Amino acid sequence: MTQPSATTAARILDGKAIALEIQNEIRDEVAALVEQTGKRPKLAAVLVGDYPASQVYVRNKEMACKRVGMTSELIRLSAATTTEELEQLIERLNTDEETSGILVQLPLPKHIDAQRILDAIDWRKDVDAFHPYNVGLLSQGRPQFLPCTPYGVIQILYRSQIKTAGKKVCIIGRSDIVGKPLASMLVQRSSPIGPDWANATVTLAHSQTPNLAAVTSDADILIAAIGQPEFVKAEMVRPGATVIDVGINRLGERLVGDVDFESVKEVAGAITPVPGGVGPLTVTMLLNNTLIAARLKNGG
Ligand code: NAD
Repeated sequence: MTQPSATTAARILDGKAIALEIQNEIRDEVAALVEQTGKRPKLAAVLVGDYPASQVYVRNKEMACKRVGMTSELIRLSAATTTEELEQLIERLNTDEETSGILVQLPLPKHIDAQRILDAIDWRKDVDAFHPYNVGLLSQGRPQFLPCTPYGVIQILYRSQIKTAGKKVCIIGRSDIVGKPLASMLVQRSSPIGPDWANATVTLAHSQTPNLAAVTSDADILIAAIGQPEFVKAEMVRPGATVIDVGINRLGERLVGDVDFESVKEVAGAITPVPGGVGPLTVTMLLNNTLIAARLKNGG
């Protein structure tokens, strides 16, 4: 008789497969909307300068639009563009009948006032959900758009049947793009998926959190969004916990997350890889928001 081994490696949560599943659903919904309204959802992506990672992200977003039957327009501007020029472009896109959603790829060159630009986007076309109006709706628990990466994290948990209700969730990282909105979503009484994927007890840890390992190792679900390669080690993780790695970092030739995957997978119950974890979901939820924006334009 074979003995069970003392440690069992974690279940790998395949973000790529989950993203494809959701994209197939979106493609069907886009086809139905086109049939009903005669109008195809369109994403306008604005890219300022030539930051290499942004080129890749924007290309991925364009290809994803194509896969689900949406149109996209990439507007490339030189790094010398001024805040005023960019603001004028946003105003044009805000009133453009064809454009359902507007995305300004971050980071913007340092001389541009990024907050002013994000604030200029019509909240009904704000598919990144960064506009203060959308942030406010989210914090009140009645969101119109959900920010892409946080919603992607919740979709991974949902489609892997890992509920958050009643669980202790620790998020490391308090950015406006990932950590804060994710915390805001998880503490609500419900989510678009239902109450089982909300109602968590959330700890939002950050660079000033003392004794971080004690905080993280108390969590049933640990989410890392820090931007530090392989920062989360096995001893920071409770045995059997679910670990979601949002980080994307370049380590020499390799792309790695914020979690030391090789050691953590030996203690975790489930874990997302990098690449192939949260990343594909971010693009997918952007498509979902573009579909929502197109519906809003057509009267909901
Ligand atoms: P950010 O730099 O805006 O914020 C990082 C946060 O981590 C800060 O709040 C900081 O307090 C915290 N932090 C930094 N060092 C820490 C430490 N030693 N201990 C505890 N907390 C610490 O980053 P961001 O925009 O939220 O991105 C985080 C990571 O996620 C990056 O690697 C980024 O590339 C990645 N990211 C991935 C996706 C995706 O689609 N998968 C999307 C957005 C961001």
